[in-house]
This record gives sequence, C-alpha cells and structure tokens, in this order.
Amino acid sequence: MGNLASRPEIMDVRSHGSGVATRYSHGLGVSVMHLALPIEGNGRLLGYARASRSLSDIEQRLTRLRTVVALGAVLAMLAAVVLGLVLARSFVKPVKAMTAVAEGMARGDYNRRLPATRTDELGDLARALNQTAKSSQNRMETIITDRNKLLSLLRGMVEGVVAVDRDERVLQMNSAAGKILGASPETSVSKPIWEVTRVRQVCDTLSRTLKSGRDVKDELRLATRSQDRVVEMLASPLFDGEGELVGAVVVLHDVSDLHRLQTVRRDFVANASHELKTPIAAIRALVETVIDDRSMRSSDQASFLAKIWNQSIRLSSLVTDLLTLSRLESSPGGPELRPIDLRDSFRVAVHALLPTGEERGIAVHTEVPENPVQVLGDPEALGQLTTNLLDNAIKYTSRGGQVWVRLKTGNGQALIEVQDTGMGIAPQDQARVFERFYRVDKARSRELGGTGLGLSIVKHIAVIHQGRVFVESTPGIGSTFRASIPISRSLQENPPS
Ligand code: ADP
Repeated sequence: MGNLASRPEIMDVRSHGSGVATRYSHGLGVSVMHLALPIEGNGRLLGYARASRSLSDIEQRLTRLRTVVALGAVLAMLAAVVLGLVLARSFVKPVKAMTAVAEGMARGDYNRRLPATRTDELGDLARALNQTAKSSQNRMETIITDRNKLLSLLRGMVEGVVAVDRDERVLQMNSAAGKILGASPETSVSKPIWEVTRVRQVCDTLSRTLKSGRDVKDELRLATRSQDRVVEMLASPLFDGEGELVGAVVVLHDVSDLHRLQTVRRDFVANASHELKTPIAAIRALVETVIDDRSMRSSDQASFLAKIWNQSIRLSSLVTDLLTLSRLESSPGGPELRPIDLRDSFRVAVHALLPTGEERGIAVHTEVPENPVQVLGDPEALGQLTTNLLDNAIKYTSRGGQVWVRLKTGNGQALIEVQDTGMGIAPQDQARVFERFYRVDKARSRELGGTGLGLSIVKHIAVIHQGRVFVESTPGIGSTFRASIPISRSLQENPPS
C-alpha cells in the first residue's frame, strides 16, 4: 500500500494520539473512512495501525440505526397519544360532567347528580359536589316553601302590606295594599314607593320609619268617590341578621267600616234616647199637671189621661220596635229560617189590619196566589214586614183612599207589594225612608203613632231573607212598596203536594 506516513490520519496520531480522516479512494471508487491509532511497546512507538471502512457501509448502518430510532420514536409517540387519550378521556369526561352540574347549580337546577363510583380524588370531588347539590336543593326547597307560605299569607291578608328597601323601592305589595293605594302590585315591585302611589302620607310614614329606625303609627283618611275611608297605618323597620336597617314595612288596616258602625251606633243611641225621652217627658209633665191641679175638672182630667195613654202607647211602640230590631240583629245569622208557605203569615198580618183600614175609611184590597208560596223564612218576621208596609199605607193615605196589598211570585222571587193612593214621598226622601228614625214629616208621623223604625225593620227583615226592598212613589198620587224574598229552590223543584 506504499508509505502511509504522510496520510492525514497518521499525522493526526502523531500530533493528537489518534486520527480519523475520510477521503475518496480513486482505487476503490468510494469514500473511505480511516481510523489510525499508535502501536506502542515498552514505552516506545513501534508503528501505526490503520483501519479503513467504506463510508457507504457506515452510512448503511447509520441509516438502519436511524430507521430503528425513528420507528421507535413513532411507536413511542403513538403509545403516548393512545395513553394520553385514554387518560384524558378518563379525566375530562367526569370533569366535564362536574362542570355541567356546577353550572346547573348556578342556574338554580339542583336535581342533577354525578356518578360517584370512582375511588380516586375525582370520585371524592363528585361525592362532595353531589352532597353540595343535595343540601343546596333542600335549602332551596325550604326557602321556596317559606316564601310561598309568606306570599299566600300576604295575598290572603285583609290588611294591606307594603315592604320597601332602604332606597324606598317596593320589595313586596299585596293586593289589599294595591287597592288602598290605587297601585298595581305586579308592576310596583322595584319602583320607588312615591312613584307607584299618590298617597303621600304612606310614603312619608315609610320615610320616617327608615330615618328613625322605629315604629311609626298614623291614621290615613282617603276620600274616594263612593265613600270616605279611614286607614290605620303601622310602619316598622326591617333589620337583617346583623341588625343593619335594610328597609321598612307598613301595614294598612282599613277601619272605615268600624268607624261607620261606631258612628251609626252613636247616632242610633242618641236618636233612640231622644225618641224615648220625648214621650217620657210628656207623660211626666201631664202627670205633674194632674197632680198639681187638684181642682181640675173631670173632663179635663179625662183629656189629660187620654194624652198620657197616647204617649204611653207611643213609648210602647218604640220599645216594641227597638226590641224587634234587637231580636233581628242579636243572633249572628239572624232568626232561624225554615221552609214556610208565605201566604199564611201574609194573610194573618193583613187580617189583623183590616179593621184599622176600615176605621180610617180606607178600602184595603188583598190579592193572594192560589198556590203555596214556599220560602225559607221566619214567619213572625215576614208577618211583621207585611204589617209595617200595610200599616204605613193606611197611615199615610187619607180617608176614602185605596190600598192594594198583594202577594205575587215571579222570577224565582216572592213579592209582597203594598200600593196606596196616599200622600206619596218626594224623590229626595225615597232613598232615605229605610234609614232608622228617618221620617219625612216628623210631626205627622208622631201624630199617627209612627216611630220612624218601621221601614228600617222591613229592610232588615228582607235582607236577612236574602231579599230586597224597593219604593216607587209620586207625591200626591201614592206609593208602592215592594219586598222581594227568594223562593226556596228545593221547594220550587219539588213543590209539596
Ligand atoms: P214611621 O213610623 O214614621 O211610619 P217608617 O220607617 O215606617 O216610620 O217610615 C218612615 C217614613 O217614610 C215615614 O215617616 C213617612 O214619612 C214615610 N212613609 C212610609 N210609608 C209611606 C207611605 N206609604 N206613604 C207615604 N210616606 C210613607
């Protein structure tokens, strides 16, 4: 092979201890890699050893090696991807399910639950989430039930209730409050109270409560088209769990009926006392005169006694009427009603007054149906109703006049009708004649032995029989009074034979 000492790899051995060189070999026609190392013996350099190999050989090996490495890498990657996917699936799925449950809870859906079969940390988390959902659901149900109870309580309350927050915005308003304040409870929520009602006093009361943090009591007077209303207001502050003022609530109690009743009762007591006092005073004065005047002629004495008798009759009528009213009002549902034939009590009442009519020169015509008139009623009270109407007709009709007293049926109603050709009632008085102690002509009524209670008793009796009273009258021509009482339906369907 000739002297190789000048070859680069041999030269490298000399300078670096080993040498590697790659050259194209013209002889072989391929690139060859040479590796040279020194040969040493007894500390002396004896020569060089050189190994050569065709580069294509090496490259072939390297290529094989690279292929193996690439294949390994691909396999490793594939294994990693598959493993990753499997692992990801086993983690992502439950995490996604948990996210869905958590989002559901945020929206208020507490019904979803997670499968809690895993024993790892994800299983623990799923169980914790399930527990949270369950306790939240229970708490939510309790809150909703309590809220519904409170709302139906508010809705059912006769008293009006309005709750506002610190900024006086409506939190809650029930329909009773809506009616009193002229506001719509549905559209009022979240609006400032002064925007939803014109009743300033309620807004002021709530403001005062919010400012002072104390209860405020006040009375509200509302003038409506039909009537004046009196409303008691009690506003109280609302505090949260930490005692912080968060709003105020006002309770509106409509006491108009109570006020009206009190006024009616006061007026009634005053009127009754006055009515009783007049005959008592007259009797006293008459008796005193008779006692004092010992020399009074017996004819005068007789006239005085007749006057005393008249006054005592008046007193007795008054007491009788007052007792009748009290009897009608005393039992809570009025007198006990039972199935009766109205013709009986009607006939009895009319017959009792026929002599009076005759005495006063008034022709009384009676009309009674042939068939029974079955109503649910109190015969005594219905007899009294007929008596009072007929008595008035006779009283307020002049001698020679006529009175028709009829019992009729129609439209499911029994009608007691009393028509006269008497003095009549002016239109402005017609609505008031049914009021207690109301008399168009006081002197005339007294003179005729009237108490002013007759028609109020008639109205009362009609009302407790679910009936009504009407008057039609023309002054100077006459009056027609009607009282309608519903015919008992069961009796109407199965009339007694
Ligand atoms: P009184 O005891 O005074 O008759 P009522 O309550 O029966 O009391 O009647 C009230 C008033 O109605 C009477 O005072 C009278 O002025 C008027 N009135 C009642 N019935 C008639 C009638 N048939 N015709 C005219 N006026 C009547």
